[in-house]
Amino acid sequence: MKEQITPYLRTLIEKGSIPLRAQFKKKRQPKKESNFTNDPLGEEEKYSPVKGLVHKFGNRALWKVSYRCAAHCQFCTRFRQIGSDEGDLSSEDIQACIEYIRTHPEIDDVILSGGDPLFTVRDTLTIFEELAKIDSVKVIRIGTRLPIHSPKSFHAKLLKELMRKMRLYARKKALFVLININHPDELTKSVLRAIATIQKTGAIILSQTVFLKGVNDNVETLEALFTTLYHNKILPYYIYRCDYVKGVEHFIVPFRKERMIMTELRKCLSGIAYPTYAIDVPGGRGKIPPPLHFWKGTVFRYVTDFDGNKLKI
Ligand SMILES: *Cc1c(COP(=O)(O)O)cnc(C)c1O
Ligand code: SF4
Repeated sequence: MKEQITPYLRTLIEKGSIPLRAQFKKKRQPKKESNFTNDPLGEEEKYSPVKGLVHKFGNRALWKVSYRCAAHCQFCTRFRQIGSDEGDLSSEDIQACIEYIRTHPEIDDVILSGGDPLFTVRDTLTIFEELAKIDSVKVIRIGTRLPIHSPKSFHAKLLKELMRKMRLYARKKALFVLININHPDELTKSVLRAIATIQKTGAIILSQTVFLKGVNDNVETLEALFTTLYHNKILPYYIYRCDYVKGVEHFIVPFRKERMIMTELRKCLSGIAYPTYAIDVPGGRGKIPPPLHFWKGTVFRYVTDFDGNKLKI
């Protein structure tokens, strides 16, 4: 993945934000053998019925609108693909996805992801309009980092148009916007203003966080992050263990340390400000919450996924 940093982020990094530098500046990889792979979650191999769609959990489908983002996060699960054109969808591809969703009425929840759906807003507008017409779809979610990468973009014409569409949709159905936020440094005044713009549409804003070594692997940082989110009406939804993707090895936090941090946070945060801590099981199916230190005697060598498969973690 190429380094790509927006002028906005570059300014914050130049002002001295170490957590932002760590997330966006490309780091020379130590030449270390690892068993990490390009697609540990089997998104492409096992669960993609048509180009762009990942249908892994019965009622929910994840739609990769593109592999393009305003900035490139160096820990990205789709590390290998981001910035390439292989995820671009033709209008035929978009229609095939729509057709799949229409003919699978068990899908009531569609997650627009990517890449960043708010970066490739022209396609997202089309997709959003089409999805809004499907009765069996009751929930649309948009996963984005654009408010963090480029808060000014929310003044752009096409995004305003999408916000208008979102406002109409949110009057009738459930609309969620999930923002990947990993450190309090990301929540500047202009970022919070951009998020408030989305909140005005009636969409409910959730955050997703990834445990990242050297960025947020301590209690104080995450307590500050989740408290600030809570104060700004952003609900901390998930905190993930970083996926075992080739190229992101240096971001992995020791598993035991993550569990210790989540145990301590449980003691000091409201349940509303406390996200679900989960591992997206490599080679399996399911976001599984690990037991915390409140429980003694757990053996952590294996996990059982949604299908009952016993997998090594
Ligand atoms: C995470 C994910 C979902 C959504 O899971 P929730 O627990 O409902 O947020 C759906 N599809 C895929 C492929 C996912 O990775
Ligand atoms: S915005 Fe999301 S998809 Fe894009 S590089 Fe960052 S983590 Fe990956």
